[in-house]
Amino acid sequence: MSDIIKAAFDELSKHDVAGVEELVIVIGDLTNLGEEQMEFAFDVMTKGTILSDARLVIEREPIRLRCKHCDFDGPAEILKNEGYDHTIPVLSCPKCKGPVNVEEGMACCIRSIKIREGGNVQT
Ligand SMILES: [Zn+2]
Repeated sequence: MSDIIKAAFDELSKHDVAGVEELVIVIGDLTNLGEEQMEFAFDVMTKGTILSDARLVIEREPIRLRCKHCDFDGPAEILKNEGYDHTIPVLSCPKCKGPVNVEEGMACCIRSIKIREGGNVQT
């Protein structure tokens, strides 16, 4: 999360902006980052900065696997653990149980930054 916020600051420092309305980030389902955890980190790290009153929007990227043995290309099978709130993705092929490449689901990056209109933006 701190890397994302640093990247956002880097990007914003290239522009002369009055404020930030919205920061959209993409988090893969495999990263084990919870949304509450992210929101908390965001609040703490942006306090007193240009990002402090930006709205944080979190988009999830579902897991997509590609099998090395057969032609399977699709979502991971999800195990629901009895008695636990979280789910566990199975990182093997649902068709042949073979090894897979993780194609998607590892993301942890900025999708977009919406800069506030008006204010004293100088061009
Ligand atoms: Zn397979």
